[in-house]
Amino acid sequence: MDPILCVGIDLGGTNARLQIFNDALHPISQGHARIRDDCQPESICHTLSALLKGACLDAHLNVAHLQVIGMGLAGQLSRDGRTVLNAPNLGWLDVDIAHQFEKTVERELGVTPPVFIFNDLNTLVFDEWRLGAARDVSDMLGVYVGTGVGGAIIAGGRLLSGQSNNAGEIGHVKVVPEGRVCGCGQRGCLEAYAGGRHLEARVSEVLDAHPTLQKAHPELGGEVLQLSAVDPIAQDHPPLSAIWEQTSDLLALSLANACTLLNPGALLLGGGVFDHCPTLRRLVVDKTLPLVLEVARRDLQVLRPLGGVESGPRGAAALAMQELAISPPSSIPPLPPGAPR
Ligand SMILES: [Zn+2]
Repeated sequence: MDPILCVGIDLGGTNARLQIFNDALHPISQGHARIRDDCQPESICHTLSALLKGACLDAHLNVAHLQVIGMGLAGQLSRDGRTVLNAPNLGWLDVDIAHQFEKTVERELGVTPPVFIFNDLNTLVFDEWRLGAARDVSDMLGVYVGTGVGGAIIAGGRLLSGQSNNAGEIGHVKVVPEGRVCGCGQRGCLEAYAGGRHLEARVSEVLDAHPTLQKAHPELGGEVLQLSAVDPIAQDHPPLSAIWEQTSDLLALSLANACTLLNPGALLLGGGVFDHCPTLRRLVVDKTLPLVLEVARRDLQVLRPLGGVESGPRGAAALAMQELAISPPSSIPPLPPGAPR
């Protein structure tokens, strides 16, 4: 029998990571490219097609055995999952990327595996649920705070897609009526306060207004503000601690309300801001739990992602396999020992 090869792609605003898996989701080959310079859909399709070709050549794989391609990206998708309605990181509006990539692969590799597009949070959380931190629960909420704030929900053992394929957008729940303008065009979204880009802007506003603070902490004055440099000192300086307190208050309210509503067994908190700002993360967790309805709090574990960089491509490949009614495995591959939990 011919081997089944499944492709998973994690397409970020700066990097694209591609992996080829067998039907047991063991990685067989991979490729990686920087894409920041040219995010035009045609260029991205060509880059990804070349990555795929290279990854097949590296591992002596026959492109005819490619069964399906799953791609995760940060963006809002059409109901059928084939068109990216809005992906600010890539500058895409109404791009029928699944069709375009299928045509590019057909032209450049001579094969026609179907392409499925997923929200990147769905790929990450699906992978953490199947193979990572949250393997033992039927219901979970995953929230990643990075440049933006995104989420995904597993309910009753299934990824919740929503009526129009956009469930889980916790970054755009409203936390301040008529508040700060968000990238989605509305005001007062959680992301406009807690998303890394907005958090940096708010810290910069404070530093501009308090030059003595910047003088006392030159590590805050680099060309690019690092939130990881702010986190250890934020609570010692009232103008910064006010931001950390407000941000953790708003995150905690949103997370606790979502947990009360969904009654998940796991709340998975990941993303660059949480990774690099342990003080902020601790504040959020400490404030969230008491706000969750007591009966929903009893079985709630707060977890960190385990999957690392493989999680995005592997989750995309697993979701794509599911689209073709190929059951992705639920117990392999093994995870690295000693990963923080
Ligand atoms: Zn928004």
